[in-house]
Amino acid sequence: MPKAEPVHADIVCLAPHPDDAELCCGGLLLKARDAGLAVGIVDCTQGEMGTRGSVAQRRREAAAADRVLGTACRVNLGLPDGHLRDDDSLREPLVAALRAMRPRVVLAPHWEDQHPDHATLGRAAESVAFLCGAPKYAPASAKGVASPDRLPYRPELVLYYNNRYGIDPHVVVDVSDVFARKIKLVQCYATQFGPGPKKKGKGKGDPQTKLSSAAFLGFLRAMHGFYGFKIGAAYGEAYCVKGPLPVRGMEALLPESGKK
Ligand SMILES: [Zn+2]
Repeated sequence: MPKAEPVHADIVCLAPHPDDAELCCGGLLLKARDAGLAVGIVDCTQGEMGTRGSVAQRRREAAAADRVLGTACRVNLGLPDGHLRDDDSLREPLVAALRAMRPRVVLAPHWEDQHPDHATLGRAAESVAFLCGAPKYAPASAKGVASPDRLPYRPELVLYYNNRYGIDPHVVVDVSDVFARKIKLVQCYATQFGPGPKKKGKGKGDPQTKLSSAAFLGFLRAMHGFYGFKIGAAYGEAYCVKGPLPVRGMEALLPESGKK
């Protein structure tokens, strides 16, 4: 659950539900942490519409994932799960959170997604990144948005992360070195991925879903292997960009680590 006041983060993941950041971007976020960067997460909802697990369980799971990831700041906007709309009800609190954390890079869901919250947040992200830098966008309902510690600024890059069934990526991040840790991060959400914690008493427990089935871990490995193979790596995470991806140095084209 949210730490009281957001602090600066170099890279921030916008997530419709607690678990999306870890599931879709865990590898990149772990690599960012390993590189000494501060990582932030903005969860839009508490996941109360989830088939499995309660809000309290998801909150505990997110806290466990934060300990594994070393998250610098995480906020939950408390918007209604399953009902995100691309209007000021979503844009205002996102602008407020990003102006407080001031990340250079923002991660958002791909705009095409089966889940309406993911698709909505993906569509909103471009507008939100723009509005962050609009000095007169300081809506009254986003309290404090134009306060001195939330001055307008604009993220340099928005990367759109994978949906459930796969995207045609513009960027694949080699996450081979952190993949085992990414799986641990995902498994912090025991109610969502895997059989879930054992219940006391005789109740049947939460219904099983595709995500909670044993096959899901295999799918996750296969999907990361699929994207990794495209760039000659064991495991990769897929991202899209809108517009050109700037190259400011030779490291981006000819990384030292890739020297033969
Ligand atoms: Zn989600």
